[in-house]
Amino acid sequence: MSAGWEVVIGLEIHTQLATRSKIFSGASTAYGAEPNTQACLVDLGYPGVLPVLNEEVVHMAAMFGLAVNARVAPRSVFARKNYFYPDLPKGYQISQYELPIVEHGELFIADADGEEKRIGITRAHLEEDAGKSIHEGLDQSSGIDLNRAGTPLLEIVSEPDMRSAKEAVAYMRKIHTIVRYLGISDGNMQEGSFRCDANISVRPKGQDELGTRTELKNLNSFRFVEKAINFEIERQIEVIEDGGEVVQETRLYDSDKDETRPMRSKEEANDYRYFPDPDLLPVEISAEYIETVRQQLPELPDAKRRRFIDEYQLKADDAAILTNSRPVADFYEATVAASGAKPQLVANWVVGDLSGALNRDGLDITESKVSADALAGLLTRIEDNTISGKIAKQVFEAMWDGEGSADDVIEAKGLKQITDNSAIEAVVDKVIEANPGQVAEYKAGKDKLIGFFVGQVMKETRGQANPGQVNQILKDKLSQ
Ligand code: ADP
Ligand code: MG
Repeated sequence: MSAGWEVVIGLEIHTQLATRSKIFSGASTAYGAEPNTQACLVDLGYPGVLPVLNEEVVHMAAMFGLAVNARVAPRSVFARKNYFYPDLPKGYQISQYELPIVEHGELFIADADGEEKRIGITRAHLEEDAGKSIHEGLDQSSGIDLNRAGTPLLEIVSEPDMRSAKEAVAYMRKIHTIVRYLGISDGNMQEGSFRCDANISVRPKGQDELGTRTELKNLNSFRFVEKAINFEIERQIEVIEDGGEVVQETRLYDSDKDETRPMRSKEEANDYRYFPDPDLLPVEISAEYIETVRQQLPELPDAKRRRFIDEYQLKADDAAILTNSRPVADFYEATVAASGAKPQLVANWVVGDLSGALNRDGLDITESKVSADALAGLLTRIEDNTISGKIAKQVFEAMWDGEGSADDVIEAKGLKQITDNSAIEAVVDKVIEANPGQVAEYKAGKDKLIGFFVGQVMKETRGQANPGQVNQILKDKLSQ
């Protein structure tokens, strides 16, 4: 499709910061309250009221800056971005413009070939969110809910470094993981706590100059980001190949129709008449403060992933999945610590059966019906040969259904693995005796039949015979 064309993408990600009160007022930021019950005079833009900066947002922005290897500005300034909209009663949004709190960061994603690729982060600035217009359920009129007005946002702006929709999604996921690791945002995309605007252009391969871009507004799922960008790439290439020109504009993605539509022509910065907000002092941060924040940073996703590979000798894919979310990584490490099982076996179970059960029941790992300790108990029984991996799956399901610990279930259901040689031999003898035809064929050279015999023995022992021993004993006896 895009042969001959290079795609260029830059993202602006809006992350809602997880403070209890708003960025410039004491009103609550809790989601889902009755409209207009969480907007105080400051949020409503009453004349004469003054904004007071919530210190916590400065701390959170500094954490983010350090986590992406950026410069945290010793001095940043809030500015007024002036525009009229019903959900913005003051007539301006307080944001940061010329002097943002974070600049010149970076992170790394895996590109299409699995190679590490650096994506530059131009800046991240603090700003307040606007309210919401409500149309649903209203006839001939619109409602305004100002609960969201004044909610703190960190807008993270990337360099135009991404070259495909997949890279854009990988970058967005990485930012999502980082803000949740830091605990500065819940990253809840359904509630709009994490959303992005995607800037997209195309240019002939080999051309240095960037093409004209369009901006897709408010994409709030990874899937939509990918689909919307891909649609837009196709559209732009088609426009140009048909002899037309891409118009710089803001477009909206319609997920029902899987297409983008023009929303408004692109506004220029000077349309907003930015100027420093005279109601707020510049934010000044000392070097000591930044050092303290640096000391308190948690282990970040990339570092944790590398450690998991080094310390537990995990496969790279498993390490990546397990460190994608901090609670999952914590669960994994707790299970390893509490069990005598090999770290890779624990990884297989957390990534496999446990994740499967969580998905099936729509649960988060923090709500898992089998705790890390309980899972460790089960894996210890695989490791010490009390049960086979296959029987363990059955035990796990029973544990998930609340039937007790691994040992309880193994005991109650009589699932202990049969490792007694003479007991297995007795079953093997029985199977050999009952299948003279297959025995003759096997002896005539049909080696594949060993699988049939193993299956018969397992059936007789309800899957409880130790598979290694069964194989060995069968081979010995059949070659006699
Ligand atoms: P604005 O202030 O108009 O939103 P910025 O210059 O701050 O514009 O850029 C916004 C985003 O658009 C950034 O992520 C940037 O990397 C990206 N961007 C800028 N130019 C292009 C382009 N030609 N193609 C794709 N992305 C671009
Ligand atoms: Mg923009």
